[in-house]
Amino acid sequence: MCSELRVLSVRQPWAWQIVHEDKDVENRILPTTYRGQVAIFAPFSPDVTALQRLPRVAPAWVDAPRQFELGAIIGLAQLVDCHDASWCGEDQYGRAIEMCSPWSLRSHQHLVLSDPVALRHPVSVRNRRGLWKVGTRLMREIEAQLP
Ligand SMILES: [Zn+2]
Repeated sequence: MCSELRVLSVRQPWAWQIVHEDKDVENRILPTTYRGQVAIFAPFSPDVTALQRLPRVAPAWVDAPRQFELGAIIGLAQLVDCHDASWCGEDQYGRAIEMCSPWSLRSHQHLVLSDPVALRHPVSVRNRRGLWKVGTRLMREIEAQLP
């Protein structure tokens, strides 16, 4: 594991989709300059609308669990890039084109994620906002749950 680890808070079921399926972009309003490993944290409150629409959101939801882990770090991924939607979603004339991922939204910052790994058991943590830095003790707990 790297020396630095930040936590990216993503509501369920999207956190699950990042760790177990193909969600490779997290859409945010604010950009980040951080690059490197991120722990995917599923906060206590899920995206209720998305849960109600399962499994119509994506075919992958058919395999989704009935109960999603909440209030816990469920996996790791690499944050490899962050760019504005206009960078990948517009041609040189400003016309809308296909974006970097089917998960990308227009008018957002695209946090590009790769190499997701699911923890064997989720590590419970308190809700916190932003891309916060993980301390040594929590990092050891996460490492202990790597497959
Ligand atoms: Zn993009």
